Amino acid sequence: MRATDTADAVVVGGGTVGGWCAYFLRRSGLRRVVLVEKRTLGQGASSRAAGVVRTQGGTVWAVALGEWSRRFYLRQQDEIGIDSGFTPHGYVLPCFTPADVAAARERMAMQNGLGLEVRWLEPGQLDALNPTLAPGRTLGGTYCAADGYLHPPRNVVAYAVALVTSGVEIQERVTVRGLTIHGGAVTAVQTSVGEISTPLVVLTGGPELAQVAGLAGIRVPAGGARHQIAVTEPHPALAAERVPMVFDLSAGLYWRPEEGGLLFGMSNPAEPPGEARCVDEPYLARMRQRLADLVPVTAELGLRRTWAATIDYTPDHLPIIGPAISDAGTLAGVVVASAGGAGMMWGPGVARAAADVALTGTSDVVDVTDLGLDRFDAAGHSKLGTDPIALPFPEHAPQLPGTFTRS
Ligand SMILES: Cc1cc2nc3c(=O)[nH]c(=O)nc-3n(C[C@H](O)[C@H](O)[C@H](O)COP(=O)(O)OP(=O)(O)OC[C@H]3O[C@@H](n4cnc5c(N)ncnc54)[C@H](O)[C@@H]3O)c2cc1C
Repeated sequence: MRATDTADAVVVGGGTVGGWCAYFLRRSGLRRVVLVEKRTLGQGASSRAAGVVRTQGGTVWAVALGEWSRRFYLRQQDEIGIDSGFTPHGYVLPCFTPADVAAARERMAMQNGLGLEVRWLEPGQLDALNPTLAPGRTLGGTYCAADGYLHPPRNVVAYAVALVTSGVEIQERVTVRGLTIHGGAVTAVQTSVGEISTPLVVLTGGPELAQVAGLAGIRVPAGGARHQIAVTEPHPALAAERVPMVFDLSAGLYWRPEEGGLLFGMSNPAEPPGEARCVDEPYLARMRQRLADLVPVTAELGLRRTWAATIDYTPDHLPIIGPAISDAGTLAGVVVASAGGAGMMWGPGVARAAADVALTGTSDVVDVTDLGLDRFDAAGHSKLGTDPIALPFPEHAPQLPGTFTRS
């Protein structure tokens, strides 16, 4: 590793967003792309996720990013020679109240209008598709057969391979400490082992994005919160062909098949933001009860494993893709990227769009006009509506002061 360096572009953070972004920048023709990661690749949120890939988003941005990412996962073998382990499986969003039904039908019309093959299931059809569900509990729901899941550690392997084979320079165990700005434009990245001169920087960081951006005087109203996952022991009734993926939006609980049992995930919206250090057993017990209520066979099953990790979130549950803005105005050459807690379903799309914005200011992956930092006011409130199909994350993120070198 060199202590002083130059690069055509530097990407900060080696999670799925930074990893795929560096790959796309290199593929666009930049000669020297450096990825700086303070731990090792994937050691943030990206290796700890549940792997759910859902195109049935609640906004046009979510649908576009989900669909672009799903298609990317399907073509990885041809493009890279390895894949993220994406398995199409089918995803149901059940409705429990007439209000749920009205919202779901409206959403489905938007999704169908954008070309997604989402269809309505009547209650009997939903029960037939999912014989593990307690019968007669729903008022129907939406279903998309193309949705699926990937294996998060394998996704880390996939982008590591893509980075190495495409010629991105990976600097692991190197911490970014700030940016050098001259005349309103970035000229270098300061790291724990020296400076990298560059005209182009993409800032990622997942749950730590606000801190990373704060190093450069950029306020990003994003945060981290505990998200936890449990996997039940196997049971013949839970064979994968009997269990579509399910998102019980009303409870903020989702599940999918895993190793002959169910993997289920949850976040407690009442919990203050912050780093996840352990499993919240009482909340897990509450969600186990809800799961047992809807999928009775799970009531008798033990848990094979549980874990908690810090998930990234934004106040409107939407991604951030856009130029960096400090108190002194837009910082030329610096782009900020966050998948807003949906980095498995949107990550490659966010990464490609961020690379596009860094290179050209726009992207054909998704319309980024409204996705930048300028949608937030000083208190971190977004002018966009909240994406309705999201985990119930905390609503407000910490605001962090930052320092940067300007001359
Ligand atoms: C338990 C859990 C389950 C989840 N399940 C799903 C799911 O099913 N579907 C889905 O779509 N999403 C899911 N997510 C969310 C998804 O994992 C994240 O949105 C995604 O991983 C974020 O990717 P990232 O690259 O932005 O962040 P990260 O993967 O966190 O990567 C950021 C990197 O930046 C590095 N970094 C930080 N500061 C610095 C610095 N100063 N210098 C250098 N490097 C730095 C960190 O070390 C880290 O590796 C889940 C998350 C969790 C925690």
